[in-house]
Amino acid sequence: MEIELCKYSGCNLIGTFTNHKDRTNDKYCAKHFRFTRMIRAARGRNKYVPTFHELEVLLENLVNFQCPSCQKQMKFTVYESGMPDIVSLQHNRDGSISLICLSCNSRHQHYPNDSFYFRDKNMKRCSKCKTEKMLNQFHKSNNTVNILKLQTYCKDCIKIGRNLNKISNVA
Ligand SMILES: [Zn+2]
Ligand SMILES: [Zn+2]
Ligand SMILES: [Zn+2]
Repeated sequence: MEIELCKYSGCNLIGTFTNHKDRTNDKYCAKHFRFTRMIRAARGRNKYVPTFHELEVLLENLVNFQCPSCQKQMKFTVYESGMPDIVSLQHNRDGSISLICLSCNSRHQHYPNDSFYFRDKNMKRCSKCKTEKMLNQFHKSNNTVNILKLQTYCKDCIKIGRNLNKISNVA
């Protein structure tokens, strides 16, 4: 089998990943593959579309490839579902863009403006009652992959949910 280099000009890594959604056979290294996905997703969602170079600069500005928001080590994993530490493109509401991990990216949307970045790290926002609570107000999740993960609903909301269930079961 012939070895192909990453399609991105100037990149000397081996091209391993093909973006089938682009209907080409272009092969990219893991990094440039992620870049094509970010660009594609931005275009699809009618958001600002960065160039490869802009993404490269963002990447260079990261410290040790850590998520600037949660300091978790990020990855260029190719498959996106269930990969909370994959590097993703965040369109901030102030118009700027940044590279943060996928789990921070999906949490950002629940905060007004860009307040997500300035949140108290000892607090978590309940996705049910939409209030910020201390971390001990959340049960640990049953997630076997990440045992440190907390549930998305706070203890109070789970209790209320259970009581409602009881009532509807009786009725
Ligand atoms: Zn490359
Ligand atoms: Zn993060
Ligand atoms: Zn709650």
